[in-house]
Amino acid sequence: MNIKELDEKYVLPTYARFDVEFVSGKNSRLIDSDGKNYIDFTSGIGVTSVGHANERVNSAISEQISNLTHTSNLYHIGPQAKVAQKLVEASGMDMQCFFGNSGAEANEGAIKIARKYGEINGEIKKYKIITLNNSFHGRTITTIKATGQEIMHNYFGPFPDGFVYADTIDDVKDLLDDHTCAVMIELVQGEGGVEPQDKKKVQDLAKLLKKDGILLIVDEVQTGGYRTGEFLASIVYDIQPDIITLAKGIGGGVPVGVVMTSLKGVLTAGDHGSTFGGNFLSTSATFEVMEILGELHRSSKLADTIKYFNEKLEELYTNHKDKFIKKVGIGLMCGLRVKDSDTLASILNSAKENGVMVLKAGRNTLRFLPAITITKEEIDEGFTALNRAISSI
Ligand SMILES: *Cc1c(COP(=O)(O)O)cnc(C)c1O
Repeated sequence: MNIKELDEKYVLPTYARFDVEFVSGKNSRLIDSDGKNYIDFTSGIGVTSVGHANERVNSAISEQISNLTHTSNLYHIGPQAKVAQKLVEASGMDMQCFFGNSGAEANEGAIKIARKYGEINGEIKKYKIITLNNSFHGRTITTIKATGQEIMHNYFGPFPDGFVYADTIDDVKDLLDDHTCAVMIELVQGEGGVEPQDKKKVQDLAKLLKKDGILLIVDEVQTGGYRTGEFLASIVYDIQPDIITLAKGIGGGVPVGVVMTSLKGVLTAGDHGSTFGGNFLSTSATFEVMEILGELHRSSKLADTIKYFNEKLEELYTNHKDKFIKKVGIGLMCGLRVKDSDTLASILNSAKENGVMVLKAGRNTLRFLPAITITKEEIDEGFTALNRAISSI
């Protein structure tokens, strides 16, 4: 059996996969099993932030695992402590970290911190968490309930109580009550359609919550790791959330999830844990990814890449105004709102045929999450292919 047949026979059909099998890659280039070349504008949904087959990350990992991969969280773990320092210093906030293995798991940790905080502070138990419609927070039972999309709540119940959905950030204040412990938002909704929140509204909400003693959780699973031009979108928005979650891009492809919080005393020994979380493998990779991305940020190479990518995207938009409504997003988390979802489906297929991989978000958004290390040549090649792809439909 070939890979496609094995996949169909032995893997649960939870993904509507494109019929392509990539076998190798280098930075923002991919090669499939037929030897065809592609430019990758997806970076594995914002994960391979330092590109495919990054030599520095690969040598950091192999050096580490030739020594130790895992010893458990019963003992001190060198790279875990060092990467925690790095993440906290990059945030510019006074925080501590908990390490898990995915975005959903990071959000679970954030929710646990908020719930315990709400239980031990004040006379009445505060447990409600307000999230936004069109949000995405993960696939576990709790995080699908936290996700404000009705379609995600088909089947799988009963769910944990206490999640309340606000239509927009303006509506949050009307939903706050004595039982609210936290508000959880994405600053740029990723899966929801690359939709940035208004900066002033976010800042006003942050102030209001601080005044009322309600926690602000920012899900930076997709926006974190320099995706928006700064280490965190919270830095771009100039806010100091109580809890921030990270995953996707900070491991460069190695599974990692992080909860960062200024609430250092809420969880105590025994309250939370993870077998794999923060082991030598994932944290040595994350440390090197943070080094590489930090250098790109400091040297303003990242700012140049963002500018160049967005100019090319604007050009694509201008060339094909018959198919697009507007350009959306921040930094290297950007997209084009497409006139209708059928056109978007054709674009995705034609792009693949023409050798460039792009993503869908929400109902009708063409989404771009290129590697932060993408080069000008790769950007040029990708947009040339995409222009051709869109012209041909
Ligand atoms: C991808 C994503 C998640 C879920 O991450 P997993 O690693 O798939 O569990 C949660 N929140 C946001 C904003 C995401 O983009």
